[in-house]
Amino acid sequence: MSPSGSRIPAPAARGSAVAEVDTPALLIDLDTLDANMAQVHQHVIAAGLHVRAHGKAHKCPAIAHRQLAAGAIGICCQKASEAEIFADAGITDILITNQVVGINKVERVAILANRVTLGVCVDHALQVDQLGSAATRHGSKISVMIEVDVGLGRCGVSSAEAALMLAAQIGTFAPALTLGGIHAYTGSAQHLREPAEREAAVAAAVERVTAIKWALESAGFPCPTVTGAGTGTYMLEAASSLYTEVQPGSYVLMDADYAANHLPDGAVPLQHALFGLCTVISASPTHAVLDGGLKTFATDHGLPVIMVPGWTVKGLSDEHCVIVPDAGAAPLQVGDKVRLIPGHCDPTVNLHDWLVAIRGEQVEELWPVLARGALF
Ligand code: PLP
Ligand code: MN
Repeated sequence: MSPSGSRIPAPAARGSAVAEVDTPALLIDLDTLDANMAQVHQHVIAAGLHVRAHGKAHKCPAIAHRQLAAGAIGICCQKASEAEIFADAGITDILITNQVVGINKVERVAILANRVTLGVCVDHALQVDQLGSAATRHGSKISVMIEVDVGLGRCGVSSAEAALMLAAQIGTFAPALTLGGIHAYTGSAQHLREPAEREAAVAAAVERVTAIKWALESAGFPCPTVTGAGTGTYMLEAASSLYTEVQPGSYVLMDADYAANHLPDGAVPLQHALFGLCTVISASPTHAVLDGGLKTFATDHGLPVIMVPGWTVKGLSDEHCVIVPDAGAAPLQVGDKVRLIPGHCDPTVNLHDWLVAIRGEQVEELWPVLARGALF
């Protein structure tokens, strides 16, 4: 292991030129990262809400610390092991935006809750029972968020009755468990391309959650926090008068899929801060080949987009990316280094041990992706 905890040596040295970075690598443009963060945080905070940035996008404590320094109140994680890694790196307020099931996991989560302020989502009595028993045994406190399905068709209860039963059950585990409020993530709205489609989806979610929150509070179960939202909709939740915090993740990095969302008139687009850097390892008159394939770029939301004018990504295999020129495109030479915008940032970052943080054409910092592969 290198001193940073990564098994793999960093692809560059601090202070070196970007042109010297070994490939394939992921670059983070620091000026853009900071600008994206400032833009989103300022908007959300001005609307009177909190930012709880999602760590699943970058899996990198160095970025989480930057988000906290820029006004986020805490972070979200998707997995217990991810939360442990961020906690080890000094993050003290974490919401696991997911269901944690199984005695081993719940045990770890209950222990973690003695070190950090911790929230966990539930949508079933078994989860509450496991969390409540473990937290009671360990003398820790967990803030439990009742997840409401707002159209994603993933986790979450669909009725006020189900929410009321969970709230009552959470109460039986006091003081180990407290009801934190409602988690309602409008996941299926994030990549709807048109602003009006996203607006309608979030409006429907707000209506559903408002009714469930009213039912809970009328029955004596206050819901101080309503949390959700991602990069595609955070402005809508921020304007809702219902949500109290938003949890965007991709906004700091951006990707080709998010860039394809159309924005409302006057909205300032977030910029790409994450790039793959690859080397041309073979070139012919018809195509060129890069040294990064499916093990460098996730393609579930589309192919990466090459930033060389006149060239297009044709396809990826495990370790190769084939690119093709338009008529008249300037040829690429073996040894050239080129940048690509990943199709989907989260699973792309999870393929890499290092993020090479650059300013202009210089490497400023090397960040290990410490929560890479933290899936359990
Ligand atoms: N919250 C939850 C529960 C999520 O699953 C995700 C991403 O999938 C996010 C927030 C962040 O979304 P995004 O990266 O699209 O901003
Ligand atoms: Mn994503």
